[in-house]
Amino acid sequence: MKKILVANRGEIAVRIMTTAKKMGIKTVAVYSTVDRNAPHVRMADEAVCIGEAPSNQSYLLGDKILEVAKSLNVDGIHPGYGFLSENSNFALACNAAGITFIGPDTHAIEVMGNKLAAKETVKDYNIPMVPGLDEAITDVAKAKQVAKEIGFPILIKAAAGGGGKGMRIVEKEEEFESQMQRAISEATNAFGDGSVFIEKYIGSPRHIEIQVLADKHGNVVHLFERECSIQRRHQKVIEEAPSAVLTPEVRKAMGEAAIKVAKSCDYVGAGTVEFLIDEHLNFYFLEMNTRLQVEHPVSELITGLDLVEMQIKVARGEKLPFTQEDLEIKGHAMELRIYAEDPLNDFLPSVGNLEIYQLPTGEGIRVDNGIEEGMDVPIYYDPMLAKLITYGQTREEAIEIMIEAIKAYKVKGISTTLPFGKFVMEHNAFREGHFDTNFVKKYYNADLIKEEYKDEAEIAAYLALQMYLEDQKQLRLPN
Ligand code: ADP
Repeated sequence: MKKILVANRGEIAVRIMTTAKKMGIKTVAVYSTVDRNAPHVRMADEAVCIGEAPSNQSYLLGDKILEVAKSLNVDGIHPGYGFLSENSNFALACNAAGITFIGPDTHAIEVMGNKLAAKETVKDYNIPMVPGLDEAITDVAKAKQVAKEIGFPILIKAAAGGGGKGMRIVEKEEEFESQMQRAISEATNAFGDGSVFIEKYIGSPRHIEIQVLADKHGNVVHLFERECSIQRRHQKVIEEAPSAVLTPEVRKAMGEAAIKVAKSCDYVGAGTVEFLIDEHLNFYFLEMNTRLQVEHPVSELITGLDLVEMQIKVARGEKLPFTQEDLEIKGHAMELRIYAEDPLNDFLPSVGNLEIYQLPTGEGIRVDNGIEEGMDVPIYYDPMLAKLITYGQTREEAIEIMIEAIKAYKVKGISTTLPFGKFVMEHNAFREGHFDTNFVKKYYNADLIKEEYKDEAEIAAYLALQMYLEDQKQLRLPN
């Protein structure tokens, strides 16, 4: 593989190109008109504008991207995450055109892209699953009956779901139909598929997922777990590896279950098997994501592997250079997603110009970044600007480095999740490892950090005044 086209933008496009360059592989960027000056465009050896800002006129145009790839003699396409990464037709078209899709084959993408098809596929592999009705609701009376048997609250979920969309909690029987209708309409709007099903609502779950890696020769290993329970709107904001609560036995059992899930769909490449864990460390299969995950860096840091490099090698047909026994966890890694959102105002999107944007540096700090000072944050795409990742020998050390790195991360012009990250890192429940997916609901209160940032704003204003007065003095000197 001599030339790779990255069918993505932002931090992940930069991340993929970094590894391609390290491996001596040429890179091609595609971009929309608003991204013409973006870091991923400048970093690539060649770059082609593929359309207007809205992603359905640019980053989602598989045919157009494939045309670019053919015309530039590209031999591999890396889809990153989001956009075309889980589009089986695109994967098929790439391979049919003789260009390697760096990811699993279409069968795995198709079955795992649908939560119901995924449950059906792993059924014979003895994988623990959340109790529920593992088929799309067609008969409301029957679904209600199942819900009653499982016991409320239950969760109605979209089969085609992703990004926490199309999910509704039903507290009691009377709400069943109205919540079901909402889930259906949300799923139809977001995914063009209104199929929904029922799962037991696990009250205090942790979201723990296993990274798997498989080659084309039948070898599958797991790279341990990532804890992803700190979420808002059912979407992850903070991830870490390893989890603070898994025992070696549960880790082993989850790893083995994840490998079975990968084998059930003949998986090839890097993938993630997601589980929910209850307070007794019972785990239940949620779904499999057939791509590189946003939070892959924490697994890289604790295993010393470069997952993009592994993806490329596997796509080239190489065998995994290690076995499960060769792998071990070293140290601890934390990740904070830097979203252009206002944590003081219900995590609403924050748009504007990055007047100041300076990244922290230092030992144990990694920033996977896709934007620069002076740029506008485009409204058209996912609002994640970067990921701040820290690594320490212990969990405490990774947390301490994260707090220092957050303080050194300078952003002016828009709001970000940085203050939220600091709040979590300093919170006792988080530090002690006693938390679940309800952390934000249970402990987070914007007023608590408003006070702190009010003080900081006052200090900043005071310092600015001092500086102004100093400047005035200097200016007057010549007189
Ligand atoms: P999506 O594909 O939309 O991300 P997932 O099935 O991966 O949906 O679930 C996303 C999040 O929703 C989980 O991390 C968890 O917080 C919550 N969730 C999903 N299923 C359940 C369940 N049965 N009980 C409680 N929470 C759930």
